[in-house]
Amino acid sequence: MEGGLGLVIIEHKCRALFSATLIKQFIGESSETSFLNSWIGKALKGVKPNFVGLHARETHALFSNAVNDILYVHETYPNTQWSSMNTKAFYCILINKPNAKVSLYYLSSPILSPPTREHLFFTLHNLLLTRVRKKNLKIAMGDNCTHCKQAPEDIQHIFHCPASQPAVNWIRRKIDRISPELAKENNFSIFTLNFSIFDPNRKFSVIWLEANFITAIWHSRIEPGDNIIARVLGDMKPNIENLKKTQLYSNCFYPF
Ligand SMILES: [Zn+2]
Repeated sequence: MEGGLGLVIIEHKCRALFSATLIKQFIGESSETSFLNSWIGKALKGVKPNFVGLHARETHALFSNAVNDILYVHETYPNTQWSSMNTKAFYCILINKPNAKVSLYYLSSPILSPPTREHLFFTLHNLLLTRVRKKNLKIAMGDNCTHCKQAPEDIQHIFHCPASQPAVNWIRRKIDRISPELAKENNFSIFTLNFSIFDPNRKFSVIWLEANFITAIWHSRIEPGDNIIARVLGDMKPNIENLKKTQLYSNCFYPF
């Protein structure tokens, strides 16, 4: 930077490096990286000419940050030549990107209880013992969802599973009432806390509800039977009542 110390922002540098590497492999034709079509193809179909995407599904959680950075470049500069996008080019764009992500910041937020923060940490780092993970660790034979039996159960599936939908719809209605601009976000962005929300009181309310919901739905799905919404409500309603009795709620939260 002219006149400055020439220091780099290391977080942006790492993200730029990862985005540049990922896009090179995604655009390239190597059979060794064709699995990326499945993991990020659906989100990035706009940046790959003639993308077929036969197996493309929702973006894997591990790639969400890089995919969001690439999409940001795509939306900001629609004529980007992806084959010539290197780390430096990504970096120059990312340092001017408004910091939309709220997720990691809230891992240490005092508005959340320690167990809720811990669960959020496991979720955002893709460390939960889902069926997919159990199969990978060879402690389960199959990875199919025990509720819908239609798809492997990974973290994304927990929020997309048909059996989860009544509960997911309930929390989304609650969030939309607090922050109507979030209605346009997809479930994956919402449940990885990957969106921007600027009003601090609304932000506290949305983050609190989401973090508690993410914890509640995970516990609800571990139990057999499909009455997930009843268990989520049974878990969350007393927590909401208790929160509303606190000074924290009247001082910091947008009423919900
Ligand atoms: Zn399912």
